[in-house]
Amino acid sequence: MIKAEGQSVQQGIAIGKILIRENRPVQIVPEKTDAVEKEWAMFLSARKRAVAEVKNMEAMAKEKVGDKAMIFSVHAMLLEEAEFEEAVRKGIKEEHYNASYAVYLAGKEAEHFFANVKDNAYLNERSVDFRDISDRVIRELQHIRDEIILPEHPVILVTDDLTPAELISLDMTKILAVVLNNGSVNSHTAIIAKSMTIPMLVNTDAQLSVADNGRRGIVDGVSGTFWVDPDEETLSRLIDARNAYEKEQKELEQMIGKAAVTKSGRSIRVCANIGNIEDARRAGLYQAEGIGLFRSEFLYLNGTDFPTEEQQFENYRTVAQIMEGREVIIRTMDICADKQADYVRLDTENNPAMGLRAIRFCFRRPEIFRTQLRAIYRAGIYGKLGIMFPMITSEEEVDKILAMMADIREELKAEGVKTGELKAGIMIETPAAALISDRLAGKVDFFSIGTNDLTQYTLAMDRQNADLKEFQNIHHPSILKMIEMTVENAHAAHIKVGICGELAADPELTDYFIRLGVDSLSVPASEILTLRKHIRELP
Ligand code: PEP
Ligand code: MG
Repeated sequence: MIKAEGQSVQQGIAIGKILIRENRPVQIVPEKTDAVEKEWAMFLSARKRAVAEVKNMEAMAKEKVGDKAMIFSVHAMLLEEAEFEEAVRKGIKEEHYNASYAVYLAGKEAEHFFANVKDNAYLNERSVDFRDISDRVIRELQHIRDEIILPEHPVILVTDDLTPAELISLDMTKILAVVLNNGSVNSHTAIIAKSMTIPMLVNTDAQLSVADNGRRGIVDGVSGTFWVDPDEETLSRLIDARNAYEKEQKELEQMIGKAAVTKSGRSIRVCANIGNIEDARRAGLYQAEGIGLFRSEFLYLNGTDFPTEEQQFENYRTVAQIMEGREVIIRTMDICADKQADYVRLDTENNPAMGLRAIRFCFRRPEIFRTQLRAIYRAGIYGKLGIMFPMITSEEEVDKILAMMADIREELKAEGVKTGELKAGIMIETPAAALISDRLAGKVDFFSIGTNDLTQYTLAMDRQNADLKEFQNIHHPSILKMIEMTVENAHAAHIKVGICGELAADPELTDYFIRLGVDSLSVPASEILTLRKHIRELP
């Protein structure tokens, strides 16, 4: 029996067979070789496998995303492109490099060439495709397979790490639980797992390899423990614990429709954080008082291109309708940093959490931002929608956003398209925004405090880095001070302020938040009932 301890992201107990996914980095070593014919043959065969794989992916993607699957046929074409092949041939046959390095050089050369074609955005974008395809061939050359192929029966997935896009694209009916060797509780992958209510542990080094595939595992998301081949006593104890947990969850359903009021009559709005329509349905079922944070980017991370105005409009309208007139706050795309999608073509950043993410990305790509603003304005007539902007640091940014909103509204009006009245708010999730919240409060309709990023930037501790746990005090006085300051400044300007980061669900802080006068707590849909119960038990 193996027993490993981790940090629990999402409670629940799962028992089933384990599936190990090994992530192995590619090795790029510029070694010279005399075995040129052998390396060339290896390249040809790896490319053939890569083409077959891409075509296979195209077929699978067609079912899920329709025409967007085209990107895979473009990749298949690029893989067989004559100039790419010639560059690899030169690398191997003339420079005598090993096949992996020759492919790497050829990919880099093509990437550089396409990135620098003047005034041709389409060709510029193809540069990243060359990075993708050369990476794919190198993986084939080195026999590295990272794709997660789920078997017919549901499994406990064990891997080093998962990106949000990978998690979203998994077939959840086949996942009992997820165990990450790395990962951290505040990462977006963890946030998605919470919304999907799959038990998940992070930072759990169980030292397993693919040879362990198929062994029986137990994930205890309550205590944060992972067992492989549990003994009889552990197994029967955990089966009992699972039954008790499920019973407790069932009992929580009594909280549906109950008010979030303490025994002495103090109240706070309990809202939901959502990332997709399914979450919205759960929020509706649990009668959340609103959607405090719709992470709009989660809808699109596993796509093959940016969503169209129509796709976004449909999603926002559906959520507005599910919530039947209760407020839905849509946060504009907070893409990049740890939320990468293959179609977002950015140069590699040394420090992406402090890079071109969220509102900065939207300013850099105004056509993408405008498309989203149009979709939200149009959906606004189907409910009570609010719009919220992430990663704000200055008054100038807010002025620029408000001007763009006004412009979009005019544009739609000129087209004869009906628009809703949108409340406009900002996230307070950078120390800069918290410190000038008095100035920002006069410009917007509401604040929402994003404690996940506020904590990462205030403590200068990467929210993705599990290794920092011992240094991290999530109740650090600096964070509480900024929250207090923000609440005070919001109320002085007569605007509402809520909390939508993970601290909103922290039971140790609920009473403190209510006393502070915070107007709403927005938590993962799966935690609404637990929070409501907790509030009702407070004096
Ligand atoms: C936050 O930073 O607290 C927040 C709610 O936004 P996200 O977790 O999506 O970055
Ligand atoms: Mg954030």
